[in-house]
Amino acid sequence: PVRVRFAPSPTGLLHLGGFRTALLNYLFAVKNGGKFLLRIEDTDQTRLVPEALKMIEADLQWLGIEPHESPSNPGKHGPYIQSQRLSIYQENLGKLIESGHAYECFCSAKRLELMRREASRLRQPSRYDNKCRDLTREEVKKKKVAGEQFCVRFKLEPEHLVLNDMVYGHIEFDLTDMNYEGDPIIMKSDGYPTYHFANVVDDHFMEISHVLRGVEWQISTPKHLQMYKAFKWEPPRYAHLPIVLNKDGTKLSKRQGDISVSHYRDQTYFPIALSNFVTKSGGGFSDHTVERLYTMKELAKTFDISNVNTGGCRLDFILLEKLNQLKLDAAIKTDLQTVSKTLVDAISARNLKVDDYSQEYIEDVVRWCSQRVSKVKDLVSPGFEYLWSQPDPSLLSKVSTSPDVLQKFISECPNKIFKGNDKIKDTEGISEILEEFSTFHNLKQKTFLKDLRIMLCGVTKGPPIVEVFLLFGKDMTCSRMQKSVE
Ligand code: GLU
Repeated sequence: PVRVRFAPSPTGLLHLGGFRTALLNYLFAVKNGGKFLLRIEDTDQTRLVPEALKMIEADLQWLGIEPHESPSNPGKHGPYIQSQRLSIYQENLGKLIESGHAYECFCSAKRLELMRREASRLRQPSRYDNKCRDLTREEVKKKKVAGEQFCVRFKLEPEHLVLNDMVYGHIEFDLTDMNYEGDPIIMKSDGYPTYHFANVVDDHFMEISHVLRGVEWQISTPKHLQMYKAFKWEPPRYAHLPIVLNKDGTKLSKRQGDISVSHYRDQTYFPIALSNFVTKSGGGFSDHTVERLYTMKELAKTFDISNVNTGGCRLDFILLEKLNQLKLDAAIKTDLQTVSKTLVDAISARNLKVDDYSQEYIEDVVRWCSQRVSKVKDLVSPGFEYLWSQPDPSLLSKVSTSPDVLQKFISECPNKIFKGNDKIKDTEGISEILEEFSTFHNLKQKTFLKDLRIMLCGVTKGPPIVEVFLLFGKDMTCSRMQKSVE
């Protein structure tokens, strides 16, 4: 059976790169009727960020990537947090030492530091010289009894290794070169395993069949393969996923500030738009068009890991806007209430008074915004202030129509424009009425309309004035105009 996992370290927010890894794992599991696990790799206790686990779980849930097994939904293979599995690592470490594949290393930090300095003086890569490989059992025992600190290292065999990567194909590793760092530490002196060891032990006991992970881990894979061999365990299949980049090929950087999943949630993007966004580049979904959104089910069905590109996954952030707009337009038609709710939340978050707007108005704004914005939050962003507040009075100096004429228009408005109703259903005939009015009062139609727009919206360029009437309705239209002439 297919079992895959997403294994983040809880060092911060889930970013687009991690999200893509999680998503492809999830889709792979769904496609193959398998299971998707979330495992938390927190063995580097110095880099932990409190709450990171909670945030990662919340993000995955929001994205619709629900793990079948996870810290908060444990299955038979738990615990799912590495720091809670220390006894499992100790037990298996014992087996490796027993069989001669690992050994205690008593080299002091000072000795290692001196070696590093010497290497750098000679401009050579620094490597551990495997000194403690040759300690006898008696020597080890004696040092332990004397209370000397030690870590445990894995004996890397100098050999050629072949990896049949599901994405990169046939890859050869020359461990005689790779070995330049010396035998890697697998258990630190503080009793915590290192990434390599914990990762291998967990993948084995959690019965992981396929490892889909970022290509930055490919270089570690030969070490992992040797560990599987030492344990006499069957290794999983590996698929390394190319790095996620900006459109121009530069690295996504945390400093961009907008690469965390929670940022996109805050900005009211739809999770399905985000999932389509990261699957439309980088391959894996060969005949997808950029013009339409695929459901998670469709994504799973059409996912083919062997089609993932090795060149990198270049994200085009403009495409995200388009995809989100597609989803927004669809949601306005099928789920107006949820979109309205999102808008209400966005209004409150902007410290605007939600109570000032009727539910009807909110829904009208939502319907109106279709094709105009790519996400709900845009409606409370600069440029759309007029939806929520009376324009700044200082702008009225730009109005050239005389107050008397404006007052006349305001008093005629309820009957002429709104025909006695609170709302109008369409804009038919209104342009003619405006034209008549300007002709009758000797106004330049263009100037008059501009003045109305300033009074109603505080902007000189914006939506057609007839649309503003339609959206605002009688009361809001008349009261805004009245306030602006007072
Ligand atoms: N803990 C590693 C990470 O943070 C997991 C790598 C792997 O999947 O093996 O990405």
